Amino acid sequence: MGREGQGVEIAHRSITEAGKPNLTAVALGIHQAVLETVVDYANTRRMYDRPLAAVESVRARIADIYSTLQISRMMAYQAADLLDNGFPADEWLLTAKLTATENAVAAAQQGTSILGARGGVRSYGMDRHLRDALVTLTPAGTSDVQKKRIADFALGRAAPFSPRPEPSLPPLADEVLQVALRSWDHDPHERMERTMLNGLRPGDEHSMRYRVPLEKTVPFLYPESSEFARVPPVLATGFMVGLMEWACLDALRPHLEPGTGSLGTRVSVTHTSATLPGMTVDVAVTCLRVEGNKILWHVVAHDDADRIGEGEHERTAVPLAKFRDRLDDKARVCAVPGLGSVEAQVAAAGITTAATREGRGDGSSLPG
Ligand SMILES: Cc1cc2nc3c(=O)[nH]c(=O)nc-3n(C[C@H](O)[C@H](O)[C@H](O)COP(=O)(O)OP(=O)(O)OC[C@H]3O[C@@H](n4cnc5c(N)ncnc54)[C@H](O)[C@@H]3O)c2cc1C
Repeated sequence: MGREGQGVEIAHRSITEAGKPNLTAVALGIHQAVLETVVDYANTRRMYDRPLAAVESVRARIADIYSTLQISRMMAYQAADLLDNGFPADEWLLTAKLTATENAVAAAQQGTSILGARGGVRSYGMDRHLRDALVTLTPAGTSDVQKKRIADFALGRAAPFSPRPEPSLPPLADEVLQVALRSWDHDPHERMERTMLNGLRPGDEHSMRYRVPLEKTVPFLYPESSEFARVPPVLATGFMVGLMEWACLDALRPHLEPGTGSLGTRVSVTHTSATLPGMTVDVAVTCLRVEGNKILWHVVAHDDADRIGEGEHERTAVPLAKFRDRLDDKARVCAVPGLGSVEAQVAAAGITTAATREGRGDGSSLPG
């Protein structure tokens, strides 16, 4: 569950990150059921030789039910997407819950009107949709309480409606948690947001140096390829891209919270000059942007003679446990052996690149 003293924080997080999306999804389901019920009814019920669906005011009500369902659904997906990807999502979770539950109630009321007297007849189901929709208003924060917190965001006392560009937030230490717990009910502005990055800012720089060994040249990239085997031994583009990623990993490591790692999510670099084994490559990285848990770097590599490559690299900070769980799930589905320990795999593969590297900058070591 967590460490001693974290209980209230965990409970609040559970209500926000599990309770609210849960209730939002329930409300979406009820709203969808209302739509299906009224569409079916309006198409089959006939009055004065025409279906109810031809009556203008009924069509307008159905349009309302349909449109508000779309709005609720978009908000629910946006909230879930931010949450899944580790961005601050509270604003969206709050507004999505409020919108989806209130919209579901309004839809069920409209549905009751469309069904006329049958709106209260059990076999038509609308009575149940209305009652169920009303119940979603209360758990995981009543609408009144959602609005109090949403007003805080709207009035600028809390974060704006987007992933924060500069999450220079403190580590998850006990004393910080205590501050968070004390401030939870009183001052949302001081509340600690969950983050995976600490103190990294645009403009931060880092560099590393690497001496190219023979086995990092093109013929060794895919020895299975006869085309690669014919190329002279010069630094392989794939290995240079890896080198740039490595430099960004080095730069990022001091800023990652415990239990967090980073994944390369985009690489866009040129490689315009060949480097021979034995030459030294210097990679310089500069942080361009921090958005939530995504970090964009500028990278440039020189060998002893030339600028050999330049571009951008995006990395995303992720909880390592979650990443490994997903891989394990995948391994299970594909019936391949699970991951086990990464260190053991690196050792088993006989990877010895650390021996060829001369550290520079903060002197940090080969990433695990
Ligand atoms: C189906 C269902 C499932 C639930 N599941 C759980 C669960 O799993 N775990 C759990 O712990 N709880 C659960 N609850 C309880 C739920 O969290 C509470 O019902 C909810 O927080 C409201 O509290 P209350 O019922 O005591 O109402 P009260 O707090 O008495 O509120 C009554 C009314 O006053 C308003 N109000 C109260 N305080 C304020 C305020 N400060 N500002 C403005 N308006 C206010 C409320 O919005 C409400 O309209 C569940 C409730 C329901 C209906």
